[in-house]
Amino acid sequence: MAGTVQPIVVDWDKCKGCGLCLLACPVDVFRLNEQNKAVPVFANDCHVCHQCEDDCPTGAIHIAHTITSSRKASIYDQPGIDLNFVDWSTK
Ligand code: SF4
Ligand code: SF4
Repeated sequence: MAGTVQPIVVDWDKCKGCGLCLLACPVDVFRLNEQNKAVPVFANDCHVCHQCEDDCPTGAIHIAHTITSSRKASIYDQPGIDLNFVDWSTK
């Protein structure tokens, strides 16, 4: 879809399946797949805290959008928001 971004990108070439992102995420976004690679299966629950990015030892995770602290608080208060369909470039 034009004008949208993928909010959570995991580079599977870098992911070593350590599971730290599963532990780091406060809203339980990640699962490991059969290949032991992290998958953001519940990406819509992400409230953009960047903890997974910070804790991944191989730098495999990239949170593609950036938001201001006030907008972060606003999204946190609306857990149903679908980040896949937010065009961050216009915010
Ligand atoms: S923390 Fe990084 S290396 Fe570990 S499972 Fe998650 S994405 Fe993969
Ligand atoms: S940015 Fe925060 S809420 Fe989003 S997936 Fe990473 S740890 Fe979870």
